[in-house]
Parts: sequence; structure tokens; C-alpha cells
Amino acid sequence: MDFALSEEQTAIFDMACDFGADHVAPHARKWEAEGTIPKTLWPELGALGFGGLYVRESSGGAGLSRLDATLVFEALSTACPAVAAFLSIHNMCAKMIDAFGSDEMRARVLPEALSMQTVLSYCLTEPGSGSDAAALKTRAVRSTDGWALTGTKAFISGGGYSDAYVVMARTGEAGPKGISAFLVEDGRPGLSFGGLEDKMGWRAQPTRQVQFDNCTIPAANLLGEEGKGFRYAMAGLDGGRLNIAACSLGAAQAALDATLAYMGDRQAFGQSLDRFQALQFRLADMEIELQAARTFLRQAAWKLDQGAPDATKFCAMAKAFVTETGSKVADACLQLHGGYGYLADYGIEKIVRDLRVHQILEGTNEIMRLIVARQLLEARG
Ligand SMILES: Cc1cc2nc3c(=O)[nH]c(=O)nc-3n(C[C@H](O)[C@H](O)[C@H](O)COP(=O)(O)OP(=O)(O)OC[C@H]3O[C@@H](n4cnc5c(N)ncnc54)[C@H](O)[C@@H]3O)c2cc1C
Repeated sequence: MDFALSEEQTAIFDMACDFGADHVAPHARKWEAEGTIPKTLWPELGALGFGGLYVRESSGGAGLSRLDATLVFEALSTACPAVAAFLSIHNMCAKMIDAFGSDEMRARVLPEALSMQTVLSYCLTEPGSGSDAAALKTRAVRSTDGWALTGTKAFISGGGYSDAYVVMARTGEAGPKGISAFLVEDGRPGLSFGGLEDKMGWRAQPTRQVQFDNCTIPAANLLGEEGKGFRYAMAGLDGGRLNIAACSLGAAQAALDATLAYMGDRQAFGQSLDRFQALQFRLADMEIELQAARTFLRQAAWKLDQGAPDATKFCAMAKAFVTETGSKVADACLQLHGGYGYLADYGIEKIVRDLRVHQILEGTNEIMRLIVARQLLEARG
């Protein structure tokens, strides 16, 4: 058993870290205030191969393992978890197109998606169905030359911003087997967007409802086979959960690093904060928790890469554990900054706000526990 990163993995981590420090961190607060990420950022990430991290090399992607990809998200999140998480969603969509799209769709969509001249969003959640995603109601019916979609998707990261949407819609019976996946490009007739959601965190990335009113798309925009859309949508989620966990880990690490520095400077009762043993113990606890989270996350990623039978359970466990640990550490870092932790200038409150949603999306942490408990009970028989 070898826990060390390879030279190549270290290089990937360092490249993402350097990019984040130079091109993301200096602007993160401004983007948050503006409620959007400049589109010019994405082709720069695309040039590093980050537009198709685990898209096959034969399709033009970077062909990385899921473990390698977590390194990118952990590193980029030290600069801004909202930017890193948006990249994760784009990558999930690109992978779905690579894995399940026709040759024609891959050839048409992937070149620009991989270079990130175009960005992709993932539309599963609806106003009436979140955790119970298979209850979705958006309908797609065959039209003379393709499909017509009607319905509303809620909470869509990149809604009204992205260039194309991977949309799960009902084409048949109730339940998961009646769902198909489609690609809907921006500008299609009948496609519109709700107002910008006013959120606690992830404020740099625009979130809107995506609405389809008899929205017509060509037949070639059906992704893969009819009736398999829910399976495709779920296929990306184990990896998506690892990515979100990695985003929590990287941002919490940035908060701990900043806190370590701050405690060396800040004086109270005639000495720096880092001289108080009670506070040193808190630093130690945070280090223990983040190292445990990192090891667990990488083990889960390794299992997914190996195709281990318990990979889904490990991805769910890691997602719940790492996102909760990340938020706990970020909150403790805010506390150790005293009142300054509450001020935007110190960068910690943004991390606390950004990380909170990681316990809610890509399956809530209650749903993660449901997956784990179900597997425990099944194994018991
Ligand atoms: C900022 C943001 C961005 C998002 N981006 C996207 C996106 O890009 N694309 C997309 O498709 N979706 C997106 N989502 C939606 C997200 O995936 C859902 O919010 C999430 O799946 C939870 O669904 P819900 O909000 O409907 O909550 P509900 O499903 O209504 O859950 C409410 C509460 O009940 C709990 N609960 C529900 N069922 C069970 C159960 N069986 N057992 C125990 N507890 C249960 C939940 O854990 C939760 O605590 C985003 C959400 C947010 C907040």
C-alpha cells in the first residue's frame, strides 16, 4: 500500500494550485460581488486540460483517474471553492457526453467543451423533486424532427450562463426507467431562465431556474439511449461527490493555513495567539481532521478508479465526512480569527458560506447516510 502521490500527481496538484493563486484568488471576492465568473477564465483552464479531466484521451480529454481529478479540485479550491465546483459540474457533463453520446455528438460538442470555449450545466433537480430525483416531471415528447421539452429545472448552477445544458427529462413511464437525457444548447426556442437566486455562498456562480416551454431540439440531441438518462445522470455522481468533497478539503486547508499565520501575528494578553496551549490543541485537532479527511477521500477515489464493488458506499461516506469536516474546520478557523473572521477582508467567512452547500448538493448528506445504511443492512442480510 503506497499513500504517496506520484511525481505526475504532485505536478497536477501544483499546477492547479499555482493557477488558482495567480488567476482566481486575486479576483474571487470581486466575482462574488458581481455574481458571475468571467467567461474568459474557462479557456485558460481548458488550456491546462481541465475541461475534460476524465474524458478519454481518444476523445481529446486528459484521461485522468478520479483520484487525479480530486487533486485538481482540492488545489483549485484553495483559491475559490465556487469556481472549482463549477468546473466539476462542467466536467461531469463532458464525461457524460464522452461516455454515452454518439460519435456525432462527441465530435460536435466535445472539442469546444474540452477547450472550454463552451461551458456545460447539469439539469436534474426540479422545484418538486430534489433528493427524490427520479420523480422528475419535465417531459420530452417526440416532434416531427426531434424532441420538445416542457418543464422547469431548479437550482441550476450556470443557468442562464452556460452554453449548453445536459437535461434529464421524462420520455416514458414513472420512475427512473422513464427518464432520458438530452443536450439543450443555449438559444433554443422555448428555453428561458428564472431570476438570479440570492444565495448564502457560491455567489460567484449564477444559479437560476431553467425553463422549457415546448423547447425544441433535434433528434441528434438525445444523449445515448432513450430511457437510460437516469442511469447516465447517476453514473457521474460518485465522482461528482468526490469532487465536491475535494472542494471542501482544499478550501478548509486554505482556512487553516490562513489561521496558522494569523495566530502567529495576533497578540492577546501579551503574547501571540499561537502561544495559548488551548488554541494550539484546536490547531492540532483541525490538522488531524483534515488529514483524516484527505486520506479517506483519496481511498474512496482509488476505489472508484479500481471499480471496487463498494466504491459507491465509500464515495458517499467520503462525501459526507469530508464536507462536514471541511465546514467544521472552516467555522473553527473563523472563531480563531475573533471578530476579524467575520469580516470579508480576511477571507474566512466566504469559505464558511461557500462550503455549507456541499452538505446539500450532489445528494444531501442525509442521502449519503441512506446509501451507507442501505448497504450495511443489505450486507447483513
Ligand atoms: C447552490 C446550489 C446549486 C445547485 N446546483 C444544481 C445543479 O447544477 N443541478 C441540479 O440538478 N441540481 C442542483 N442543485 C440542487 C441540489 O442537488 C438539491 O438541492 C439537493 O439534491 C436537495 O434537494 P432539495 O433541495 O429538493 O431538498 P429535499 O429533497 O426536499 O430535501 C429536504 C431535506 O429532507 C432530507 N431528505 C429528503 N429525503 C430524505 C430521505 N429519504 N431520508 C432522509 N432525509 C431525506 C434532505 O436530506 C434534506 O435535508 C443545487 C442546489 C444548490 C443549493
